Amino acid sequence: MIRNLSKYNNLVIISIKNNAKSIAAVRRYSNQNYEQSRTKYDVVIAGGGMVGCTLACALGKMSLLSNLKVLLLEGSPDKPYQLPPEYSNRVVALSQNTKSLMSSLSVWQHLEKMRVNPVRHMQVWDACSDALISFSSADIMNDDVAYIVENDVLLHAVNTELKSNSVQNVDIVYGAKIVGYELPKTTSGNEECLVKMDDGKSYTCNLLIGADGAKSAVREAMGVQYVSWDYDHMGIVATLHLAEESENNMAWQRFLPTGPIALLPLDSTRSSLVWSTSPAHARELLKLPEESFVDALNDALWKQYPRNSAVDAATTWVASWLRRAGYQDGAARQLPPSVRAITPRSRAAFPFGFGHSTRYVAPGVALIGDAAHRVHPLAGQGVNLGFGDVRDLTSCLADALYAGLDINDPSWLSKYESTRQRHNVPTQLAIDALYRLYRADLPPLVLARSVGLQLTNALHPLKKFIISHATT
Ligand SMILES: Cc1cc2nc3c(=O)[nH]c(=O)nc-3n(C[C@H](O)[C@H](O)[C@H](O)COP(=O)(O)OP(=O)(O)OC[C@H]3O[C@@H](n4cnc5c(N)ncnc54)[C@H](O)[C@@H]3O)c2cc1C
Repeated sequence: MIRNLSKYNNLVIISIKNNAKSIAAVRRYSNQNYEQSRTKYDVVIAGGGMVGCTLACALGKMSLLSNLKVLLLEGSPDKPYQLPPEYSNRVVALSQNTKSLMSSLSVWQHLEKMRVNPVRHMQVWDACSDALISFSSADIMNDDVAYIVENDVLLHAVNTELKSNSVQNVDIVYGAKIVGYELPKTTSGNEECLVKMDDGKSYTCNLLIGADGAKSAVREAMGVQYVSWDYDHMGIVATLHLAEESENNMAWQRFLPTGPIALLPLDSTRSSLVWSTSPAHARELLKLPEESFVDALNDALWKQYPRNSAVDAATTWVASWLRRAGYQDGAARQLPPSVRAITPRSRAAFPFGFGHSTRYVAPGVALIGDAAHRVHPLAGQGVNLGFGDVRDLTSCLADALYAGLDINDPSWLSKYESTRQRHNVPTQLAIDALYRLYRADLPPLVLARSVGLQLTNALHPLKKFIISHATT
């Protein structure tokens, strides 16, 4: 079968159904043996993390886009993957919308065959007051609140589909070392992007996608303004073994005066930890023997912090007023699990920060994922925002092609930017505000956030609005 040759097909891809292996061999390169002649692409994606790989997969699977010739450049090597018996310490909480995207790309089925755990309930509570908010499947039409999946498992699932015969237009270079970019200076669409590699080779393309993470070199080459700050907080991750076996489909997050601590359910006895705290405290926690670390962790989940009597009186009054006014204040408070042990050597720490690129697009270039925006993981939104970028960018590119325009048409790229920024910027600001509000233990702030949490928990339309924003 000879695939359709549109104006975006620079290459005839001959696909022989019964000879899938040899086709795959032609399509994949290592840095040593790739063919110098094939340097012109319609789209080059710099960065094959969770978001970049998913975009490549979407460009291969959407019928309107699958005639584009796409190159994915990933800095790390292509390693064979086998699901390890023990969970990785790096996990993400995926939203319903991410599940829909992954299902449409046939990636979800791979996750289900490997490991993915639904979250059916979530409890978020304040260590400095009685305020809490809970979410459950009932709040979202009996669907799951989120899904916990290991980063490696997700990456492997996307790559499995990307390398399958259902994707024919994507070349992948692993171990790619990009040394520089030359980007178009005008929106005429006549200039191409140039991607220079350290071995002297180069690629040209009509559209360059920066999916190269928070320290994006593509963003730097665009010369756009990037607003960023460090939270001066580290996130400690680890795989936890719980004291008791249970259904374990509840995610827990407690806001301590030192930062939030979250437990994400993996299976009936294990959960994943994300504990945000000051760098000095993180260093101390990392140095502790594992048993002492578990004690410190249980302490963080259970300890009674000093209370302010005025705050307690006010929150008690608000709770009784809400009940009298007929508002249910959500599910009853549940007690968090106790931790028995951690998987040996599963502790690690990551710095947290905020980042916002004021422009997501420039002539012939677009940013997606952490290259465009970075958030504190307290709301489990980071990679979900990136997958939202993938969904909206592919839809804008398909619309541009359908309208007979070029793939790098500036008006459609601008549409992508405005659609995403309308969603991403308020989400980023809300997460930042939450982080700041919960870092303080001044009584007026504790009072304001506690009452806010109580009201949000009781007012179902508000709660539903938050859930629907978080899942789109
Ligand atoms: C502790 C922690 C917990 C988190 N929990 C959640 C959560 O529950 N839910 C959630 O939604 N998000 C979460 N996040 C955020 C999430 O991990 C990120 O948003 C996500 O990894 C961003 O994906 P990305 O593909 O955009 O960027 P990255 O994961 O940074 O990937 C960028 C890729 O580009 C490659 N690259 C970079 N430069 C080059 C180059 N020059 N050449 C070639 N390749 C290059 C890198 O090798 C990498 O593979 C969490 C983050 C942390 C730190």
